[in-house]
Amino acid sequence: MSAVHSVAVAGAGVAGLATAILLAEGGVDVHVFEAKPALDSLGSGITLQGNALRAFDRLGVWPQVRAQSYAFDVLGLRAPGPEARVLVEMPDDRTGGPGYPATVGMYRPDLAAILLDRAEALGATITFGVQVAALTQDDDGVDVVLSDGRTVRHDLLVGADGLHSTVRGLLGIETTPEPTGMGIWRAFVRRPEQVTHTELYYGGPVYIAGYCPTGPDTMYAYLVEKGQDRFGVTPAEAVKAMHDLSLAYHGPWEEIRAELDEASRINYTRFTQHLVPAPWNRGRVVIVGDAAHSCPPTMAQGAAQAVEDALVLVELLLSAERLDQEVWDAFHARRLPRATAVVEASVQLGRWLLDDVHDADVPGLMHRVAAMVSEPA
Ligand SMILES: Cc1cc2nc3c(=O)[nH]c(=O)nc-3n(C[C@H](O)[C@H](O)[C@H](O)COP(=O)(O)OP(=O)(O)OC[C@H]3O[C@@H](n4cnc5c(N)ncnc54)[C@H](O)[C@@H]3O)c2cc1C
Repeated sequence: MSAVHSVAVAGAGVAGLATAILLAEGGVDVHVFEAKPALDSLGSGITLQGNALRAFDRLGVWPQVRAQSYAFDVLGLRAPGPEARVLVEMPDDRTGGPGYPATVGMYRPDLAAILLDRAEALGATITFGVQVAALTQDDDGVDVVLSDGRTVRHDLLVGADGLHSTVRGLLGIETTPEPTGMGIWRAFVRRPEQVTHTELYYGGPVYIAGYCPTGPDTMYAYLVEKGQDRFGVTPAEAVKAMHDLSLAYHGPWEEIRAELDEASRINYTRFTQHLVPAPWNRGRVVIVGDAAHSCPPTMAQGAAQAVEDALVLVELLLSAERLDQEVWDAFHARRLPRATAVVEASVQLGRWLLDDVHDADVPGLMHRVAAMVSEPA
């Protein structure tokens, strides 16, 4: 039984590949169209919480993710200043359940390659260098116009095409990402031996200085500052900016700073927030992942929520006989409250920093969200 037999997916990010894996596993003919000419071979790190790991297990990629990541169960807080005093080391919630670590760090291109291999092994076709450019639909299917001039017809189009989603625009949805007021510098560097879990430094010249190990020899380090126009900076200027902003932080930052150079893949990104109100579909076209919602990575839930969208959508599609309103109502009932809670809490954590609120109940908010996402989506 399945409500769909052939599906087009726009975007080969986490949401698109997760959707493709689950549909292909369920016997559906899946075609993913990705705008980029190939997956990124260079990039930064990503922090994945237990509920993301449980979802990756469902996709059949947890052994590969485990083997290519760095697992830990503790979150550390340190103070700025020469001693880099450890303020607290807190056990992190195991939101995936006891069978998974609380958190892993990993190199983003490794995660992308694992998901792509799995999707292709299950028979999904992934075409790179082709964008979804236009669409028309009727009661029985969607005609998807591609940037290479072809038009393909499928039972459903899943718009997993990220923050600046073309599909969202084609559906006439006006909600779009807005800056939250913060921006982040990230560098991919060698892991100092003493770094065995994420550590965050609050206070000093930036809102957060932190790092997360991604492998035995690697990690990513980041500095969250007031969002500004950093887009024209040269690689040399990026090294200098990260170097200078990090001068207030010590401990492992000494080694990180000494190593920063133009090979550190330094990247600057502004944080955004948005949440498309229900419905996320119009007829036989639906948006998932960052196309539907985004938030600052203060809880590292973006990828988890993207995969959970895919899990719930495909579960409903495969267990229904036809693509009707019942499917969409069930999808929105399961996804909207959870995505809303994650976006609101992630934005709130950032806002407390922007507003310099010192007595906010950060642990309380984080534990409430952790308790919610501990339940399967
Ligand atoms: C600075 C920063 C740090 C983050 N850190 C974390 C973290 O540590 N942990 C975490 O869980 N989340 C993190 N996130 C969030 C996370 O990266 C996203 O939520 C997640 O990648 C969303 O996946 P996606 O598949 O929806 O979108 P994307 O990964 O953006 O994939 C969308 C894909 O669609 C393609 N595309 C675009 N337009 C078209 C088109 N018209 N046709 C075809 N293809 C198209 C794009 O090329 C892209 O490959 C972070 C986000 C930011 C900004």
